[in-house]
Parts: sequence; C-alpha cells; structure tokens
Amino acid sequence: MNLKKTILTASFLITGLGMVNAQQAAKHEDTEFYTPVPAKVTPGRTVADAPSDAVRLFDGKDLSQWVMTDDRTKPATWKVANGILTVDKTSGNIETKQSFNNYQLHLEWRIPANITGEGQARGNSGLFLASIGKGDAGYELQILDNYKNKTYTNGMAGSVYKQTTPLANPSRPAGEWQTYDVIWTAPTFNDDKTVKTPAKVTVLFNGVVVQNGFELKGPTQYVGQPSYKQAHGPSPIKLQAHGDKSEPLSFRNIWVREINEPK
Ligand code: MG
Repeated sequence: MNLKKTILTASFLITGLGMVNAQQAAKHEDTEFYTPVPAKVTPGRTVADAPSDAVRLFDGKDLSQWVMTDDRTKPATWKVANGILTVDKTSGNIETKQSFNNYQLHLEWRIPANITGEGQARGNSGLFLASIGKGDAGYELQILDNYKNKTYTNGMAGSVYKQTTPLANPSRPAGEWQTYDVIWTAPTFNDDKTVKTPAKVTVLFNGVVVQNGFELKGPTQYVGQPSYKQAHGPSPIKLQAHGDKSEPLSFRNIWVREINEPK
C-alpha cells in the first residue's frame, strides 16, 4: 500500500468511526419537541357538531354570514325555515362575507325527495371552495343527485367539476341528508402572478373519501381546459344557485375551521 492509499484508508476509517460515535451520542430527546404547542380545541360530539374554534357559517337561524355573489353589498336572500337553508334559484349564488385560505369545512345538503330531471339537471348545485368573482367563478365541488342518475363522471357529485372523477359514489337517495367534509389548501402565486403551488383538495362524501389530495388544474372551466389565470388571496366560500328546472335543494349545518400552523 503506498502512502497516499494508506492516508485515504486511515481517513476513511476515522470518518467511519466518527459516524458511529455520532450515532451513539444521539439521544431520543434530540427528536422530541415541546413547542409549538397545538391550540386546544373542544371537538363536537359528532362530525356534524362544530368544534370550538369553528366559524358557524349556517347554524339554522339566519344568513348573517352570507351575501349575494353578484352584489356583495346585498344580504343573501335564500330561504331559511325550520333550521334549513333552501336555494332560491331566482336570486343567484351566495357566498360568505368572510374570506378563507386553507380550511376544513363541513356541510350537509339534501336533494328533495320529489326531485325530477336527469343528468346535470337533477338537483344541481355546487360548493365553490374559493369564489374568485361573480357568477360561477371559482373552484367547484359538484353537488348533484347521482344516486341513480347518469352523467359525465367528472361532473358527478363529489367531483371537482370537469377536472376529476370521484374515487367512489357514496350518494344517498334524494330526500336524505348527505355530508361533505372538505380539506382545502388554497393555491399560492408568485410575484409575477403565475401559480406557485396549485390548490389541493381532500373530500369525504358521506364519510367516504372521494378526493384524496387532488391538485386542481385551475378554477372550474365549463368549456375548455382549466388553468390558473388569476392570482388571488383568501377568498369567500360560495354556494351555487344552478339554473336547472329541478326542485331546489337545501343545506344545513355549515361550519369552517381555518387551518393554521401552530406558532
Ligand atoms: Mg353545480
């Protein structure tokens, strides 16, 4: 072995021994943290029950948290009776006064038992996960009667409308209450307004995962390919008054929790 090789071998052995020593010196405490401390939250008794830190968007009493989408100076005019909210198709979409970024949301919806129509014209509404303008501008999670109603699969209940098919169809028959539990990660944008990270969504429909961290291609686009054309920050949450001729559906028990990293 020449001198150079000897030195290399020796240094390799020393480095190796050093690694072994570093391993031995590591303690389990090194990877255990005591801060930040997660905020204390009192959970609901059921998933429908709002946790203590939730914003109740509709608690059965009134629409004080909502405005008309096309004129945000106007209070929402959908009908509230017997603890439930029913779409008024003549007045247009409604959205929250407050804006949200990343959040967890619970919402219950019911298509009336006497529903008529077929395809997209049977109990159509939508939950816009972020409203980015008037009308249907935003990212739509479809609401539709798909218990026994055929339509394009990326337009079914539980689909991110015209972007992805739900992973399952756990639809209940019209007349029964159904639930959406959503985890929404808002898109982020670069200084030049191009998209930095796409929006992401996980959805449980009647407790069944139908979207699992799906990355959205952009806001919902009825014709053509979706893409991010508009940078935006925190946005309202919107409900759709679809123009189909079928009987209007109802909502109840809507709450949202902002998802913030512990400080
Ligand atoms: Mg819709």
